Amino acid sequence: MKKDIILVEGAGFCFGVKRAIDIAFDVAKRHKDGVFTLGPIIHNPQVVEKLKELGVYPVDDISQKNIETLIIRAHGIPKEKLIEIKKLGCEVIDATCPFVKKAQNLAEKLAYEDYQVLIIGDKEHPEVKGILSYAGEKAVVINYAQNELTELEKIPTLDKKIGIIQQTTQPLSKVKEIMNKIINSLDEFEEIRIFNTLCNFTSKRLEETKKVAQEVDLMIVVGGKNSANTTQLANLCRKIGVKTYHIEDAQEIDKEWIESAKKIGVTAGASTPQWIINEVIDKIKKFIN
Ligand code: SF4
Repeated sequence: MKKDIILVEGAGFCFGVKRAIDIAFDVAKRHKDGVFTLGPIIHNPQVVEKLKELGVYPVDDISQKNIETLIIRAHGIPKEKLIEIKKLGCEVIDATCPFVKKAQNLAEKLAYEDYQVLIIGDKEHPEVKGILSYAGEKAVVINYAQNELTELEKIPTLDKKIGIIQQTTQPLSKVKEIMNKIINSLDEFEEIRIFNTLCNFTSKRLEETKKVAQEVDLMIVVGGKNSANTTQLANLCRKIGVKTYHIEDAQEIDKEWIESAKKIGVTAGASTPQWIINEVIDKIKKFIN
């Protein structure tokens, strides 16, 4: 039986991740003794392993090692951590994605201008922890991910002047829900400033994935199990009602999944490299033939 495989347009590395990896490769070439990243440079274990082979090692505690060069990952790091690292005297190469940097800069500017900063995002995500560190003491995070829209009501300290920014990877629909809630309480505020810090790469990939998920009967979502945006893609597909598997690499594919499907869609998170996507497609083709 003929089976179709549809690869979602734009699946895999986003601009910020590609840029961070390119920087890491480039720096590793120049530093033969190896370079370090604070935590894994991206949320993909296979890429992290490959980078180790080339001399790029993740570390959690920089004080334990004699580090000459440290690369800051695409998600960015908290301001205090950056100051601490600079004090150690090592060379710092900042691979923070420019979109994340924009959110950090806006948070800092708003806090400086005495706005209470409200960040829509997951407070446990490293990117949000980083942005929050620039947002001043009054800043709060609304965690849409747990659907805690009522969280807004639980914040007793909302100022008269608030500035709103978002974690770059938040879905627009959820951001709008929270915004509507805030606008509905407009009479409580003197001024609300809203900035769009969402990243187009994420929303486009979600949109393209949605289109494909609606026309296939099996979706394979490829990416690190700890990658928030890959999990978001898998959840989107499940919500649409299509049978969905979230895998990290081709080895996880079960022949039975492929045998029982007519049309198969493949998508991948922002931290999934092209070579893993290719291996997944090849394995699916192998099971079809
Ligand atoms: S998803 Fe967007 S904000 Fe995040 S690293 Fe990629 S390009 Fe940058």
